[in-house]
Amino acid sequence: MALNLRRKIALKQARFILFIALLLGLFSSGLQIYLDLQQVRKNTSEDTVRIISMYRDTATQAVYNLNAFQANEVTSSLVSYPMIYHAKLIDDFSETLAEHRRDQTLSSSFVSQSTQQLFDLNRYIELELAVVNSDNERAKLIVELDTLYVANSFTQRAINSLFLGLMHSVALAAIFLLLTYRFLSRPIVNTAKWVNELRSGDKSSALPYTAEDELGDLVRSFAGLWKDREAVTDKLTEMVAELSESEHFSRSIMDNAGDAMFLCGLDSTIYRVNNQGASTLGLSKTQLSNTKLSDYSKNYSFEEYQQVFEGISGSQVTTFEDLQVHADGSVFPVEARAIKLTLQSQEYLLIVARDISVRKQAEKQIHELAFYDTLTGLPNRRLYLDRLTASVELHQANHNYGAVLFLDLDRFKTINDSLGHGVGDELLNNIAQRLTHVLPIESTCARFGGDEFVILIPETGNSLEVCADVSAHLAQEVLKVMSEPFSIEGHTLYCTASIGIAVFPAADASAQDIIRQADTALYRVKAMGRNGFQFYDPEMQSTAQERLEVEKGLHQALTSNQFVLWFQPQICRDGQLVGAEALIRWQHPEKGIIFPGGFIQVAEESGQIVEIGNWVLREGLKHLAQWRADGLPESFQRLAINISPMQFMQVDFVDQVIQLMDEYDLPGDAVELEITENMLLNNFEVASHKMNLLKRKGVSFAIDDFGTGYSSLKYLRHLPLDILKIDRSFVTDLRPKTEEAAIVEVILATADRLGLLVIAEGVETIEEKDTLVQLGCDCFQGYLLSKPLPADKFIEFLSSNDVVVID
Ligand code: C2E
Ligand code: CA
Ligand code: CA
Repeated sequence: MALNLRRKIALKQARFILFIALLLGLFSSGLQIYLDLQQVRKNTSEDTVRIISMYRDTATQAVYNLNAFQANEVTSSLVSYPMIYHAKLIDDFSETLAEHRRDQTLSSSFVSQSTQQLFDLNRYIELELAVVNSDNERAKLIVELDTLYVANSFTQRAINSLFLGLMHSVALAAIFLLLTYRFLSRPIVNTAKWVNELRSGDKSSALPYTAEDELGDLVRSFAGLWKDREAVTDKLTEMVAELSESEHFSRSIMDNAGDAMFLCGLDSTIYRVNNQGASTLGLSKTQLSNTKLSDYSKNYSFEEYQQVFEGISGSQVTTFEDLQVHADGSVFPVEARAIKLTLQSQEYLLIVARDISVRKQAEKQIHELAFYDTLTGLPNRRLYLDRLTASVELHQANHNYGAVLFLDLDRFKTINDSLGHGVGDELLNNIAQRLTHVLPIESTCARFGGDEFVILIPETGNSLEVCADVSAHLAQEVLKVMSEPFSIEGHTLYCTASIGIAVFPAADASAQDIIRQADTALYRVKAMGRNGFQFYDPEMQSTAQERLEVEKGLHQALTSNQFVLWFQPQICRDGQLVGAEALIRWQHPEKGIIFPGGFIQVAEESGQIVEIGNWVLREGLKHLAQWRADGLPESFQRLAINISPMQFMQVDFVDQVIQLMDEYDLPGDAVELEITENMLLNNFEVASHKMNLLKRKGVSFAIDDFGTGYSSLKYLRHLPLDILKIDRSFVTDLRPKTEEAAIVEVILATADRLGLLVIAEGVETIEEKDTLVQLGCDCFQGYLLSKPLPADKFIEFLSSNDVVVID
């Protein structure tokens, strides 16, 4: 660079100055030569004339005297002048008196020849001689000039002058150059070198130029500026160094951190991730970059993440748990801490996520140890008590019921002692599995240690009877699965169990009390010979037992044709028989006639009602068809059949009714179906659809027990109903102007508005009937008119032709 600069400035300067100096030298020399040329030309002529003139007298004398000698002397003297090479003296007779010639200067030099031409000299110079007394021609002294000689000497001079001129110029230029180099170029070059050194970071070199002149000023001010800049740069360098150090620091912290770190935008876009983050998600940093963190979360959607992030305020660290998804699809729990950062006025979130699989596993293990039985994996006493306590407290408030079943194996000790603990443990495990399999999902089965298992049925609804029933059923189910043999380590083992049952909540009984009650009941079973169940409450025991017996008996009843239908007449105000209601009876081989109150509920709860209902339907229609064939009173319109909700909701119910009507060739308007309000409310759409289908066939619908349910006007208006049956509770002891009378009046008014027929049920006394008549009721059913009658009695009733006198 310095060399370059030197070359550039000094050389350029030198070349330029030399060129100018040479040009000026040439010009001045040329001018000088030109002036010299003029001078030479003038001088040569004059000199020649003067030389000849010097010989005028001698020549004239020689001519006058015709003195050849003298004449020869003149001519020879003349040619001795270097510039004259030929001299001739001609006398006044034009005779050559003397003549001398010498060799002309020879020159082949082109310069000389050119100069010769340049001179354009008059080569011949004549001098006329005035000879006294001569009238003849004039005598002449003629000389011929050696022009080449003149030219030669001129050229020599010219060359010298040119050479000197040029030498002079060059010398001047050199001196000038030397001076400028010394005082200008060199300081500039040094300054340039100094600047370059400064630039390359060498701060040691002294000022290259200190003189008190413009360049000195320039150098000093530059030095000042450089120093300032240096200070700023130093500071900047320091800052950059610090920054890169801290950036390096934080990056290496990030990369070597054991936790996954994500630098995200507020929308969960990942901008940077550390090694751990990439490896926990099983992707490379590049793959992760610019994707959303929510893409790897199982717990949070994009929007949910957004909400979490919005909730993070200032520099406060927010902790949350998440499930992250690895690239291979596996899921692991993480504990994430998020903090908001502002980098270059942009908000970011630094999320530090730690894989807490191990901790979770440990927590789970601790939880299991604390709350679960290690052998069977079932809840332990502690967890069971927690759940039971919660359930008891809940039911004390909502008046629902639950039950505790305390189960103890009957011969476990024998098995354990004879076959060893290994077999015993395996048996317990097998039992636990069977129990879990058979119990409803919401129940809890715990192992209290040894061979004691305790089951919690947390909720059975608000009926104590149902609760007893459900518990008894479950106990039976458990006993049944326990009765199957166990196959353990090649042994076939039979192991029955005893179950004690306590129902809760009972007055002021704590969870512990309830368990104790169940345990007490269990001892009763053991005392009674094991392999059975007992309720803590003896009354409940008999109820439950009875119900179980009923359920068992109903099976028998269906298969052995123990059901019969009775019929209760429905009579109108004018005493005419308008219809009858079919009512089922169970003709028990030992207990005699059992009324529906003794088995319908059990049948409904066990689901047997569907089969029983279908039997009633067929049996009822069969009777009706028979009566019609045998002849019915003209006033008789319909046979009413009670339909249970479950039966009505069977998918093939409508088809079945229609099929039976076809089978017995019955018109739809001979059949009336009694349904209850509550069924309608539960499944309004389905029920309404089914009713409409049957309605098209002419079938009538009666609402049974009207007034005891919700009595919603909605279905009254929107369903194809025909009859309202006022429930017996309103009829019993009905007197005019009582509250009941008012209700009946409203029912009658509503029915009238909707064009429905009303039948009052359970009319037992004249007073009741009178009041009903007074209120505007037209039809009645009750003991006053007739009790339900077996088929043969009913036929008698029909044929007695006794129109019941009502008034
Ligand atoms: P429900 O449909 O309200 O039937 C009327 C009940 O009142 C019958 O009792 C009948 O004997 C009784 N009853 C009639 N008049 C009087 C009276 O003047 N005073 C008194 N105290 N009672 C009277 P039952 O036959 O014991 O039937 C009881 C309930 O069993 C019926 O009530 C009905 O809900 C149900 N049920 C009877 N048969 C069937 C059936 O075939 N299928 C279905 N699903 N349920 C039936
Ligand atoms: Ca009925
Ligand atoms: Ca009824």
